[in-house]
Amino acid sequence: MKVANRLATLPPYLFARIEQKIEEAKTKGVDVISLGIGDPDLPTPEHIVEVLVKQAYNPENHRYPTSTGLLSFRAAVAKWYQARFGVTLDPNSEIVTLIGSKEGIGHISFCYLQEGDYALVPDPGYPVYSIGASLAGAENYFLPLDEDKGFLLDLSLVPSDVARKAKLLFINYPNNPTGAVADKKFYEEVVSFARAYDIIVCHDAAYSEITFDGYAAPSFLEVQGARDVGIEFHSLSKTYNMTGWRLGWAAGNPEIIKALGTLKSNLDSGVFQAIQYAGIAALEGPQECIERMRAVYQERRDVAVEGLRSMGWNGTLPKATIYMWIQVPHGYTSTQFAELVLEKAGVVITPGIGYGDHGEGYFRIALTVDKERIAEAFTRIKNAFGRLW
Ligand SMILES: *Cc1c(COP(=O)(O)O)cnc(C)c1O
Repeated sequence: MKVANRLATLPPYLFARIEQKIEEAKTKGVDVISLGIGDPDLPTPEHIVEVLVKQAYNPENHRYPTSTGLLSFRAAVAKWYQARFGVTLDPNSEIVTLIGSKEGIGHISFCYLQEGDYALVPDPGYPVYSIGASLAGAENYFLPLDEDKGFLLDLSLVPSDVARKAKLLFINYPNNPTGAVADKKFYEEVVSFARAYDIIVCHDAAYSEITFDGYAAPSFLEVQGARDVGIEFHSLSKTYNMTGWRLGWAAGNPEIIKALGTLKSNLDSGVFQAIQYAGIAALEGPQECIERMRAVYQERRDVAVEGLRSMGWNGTLPKATIYMWIQVPHGYTSTQFAELVLEKAGVVITPGIGYGDHGEGYFRIALTVDKERIAEAFTRIKNAFGRLW
């Protein structure tokens, strides 16, 4: 049976070849170190797991949840936003629970886009933004993230005829894959652009809590007028090492939140309530676990930086996320370099082209293995290549 065009025309999976090479290396007995995976290796804090276990025994939680989530979970989100960002949200109308933020990011396109519409999407970027828009039948207009602009979107590059046809703008800071951060001034520019062209802003804030050197990331919703034009996606995945649990939310403009809730009520039946109770425990419980996690990633980042510098790299240190976005040494494409590093050093890095055409010239490493393995990875790369930059 032939699949529908919307599926058949999805872009090819760019990491397929490198995944095949990883398998080949492993079969040959190579001790492969993967700096490729954007999935935290640290466990979910115990006090959160304990609540899941307890709630799993309660038969009330064995039935269908509501698709928009327990009001008590949304109230915990509102309380967290108030404490963390000074943003007041109505848990009834301005927050919807998601089965991980990826679910909502994919589905928002189905709420607002149809044929002839555009989504404005960062390149490089998290693939779900453009793929959601494509599946909904819309066109993507890719906006380059340039290092000399701090990897911030330059909205002046959007032609006005595209801006007029655009319904959604996706932004993501702290950013995957570049590790870049945005200040409130940037968000203010985004709000005024969105107002001028009547565009909905979807800010993906999945990494807002993974920050270093004392930096604290602002929320898009802190900026005046943000709630008139957009929503913010958030998730417990990275903040509390809960990627496998599938729990997130969207918050902000009540009309947009309602549209997303309406779509969801027709497609899914929400998140297992025991997981939502565990989510409440995460948001309302002790937050030292986040501080400890930040220290772990920061230390790993510093080990990676030391390794890179020993090979002549002199880039800037990321202030946030679990990633480093590094220029490919001269003379290689990102794919060639990634394949060579795997072949010669047994280390997996991700070629930048996998995150969009504009990701060419870079590779991404994820700080999701312990610092000894990171040090070992760079020792091997240095032994194989010597000076690279
Ligand atoms: C990890 C990640 C998310 C979180 O996805 P969940 O579905 O909440 O697990 C969202 N956006 C980006 C850019 C990410 O890297």
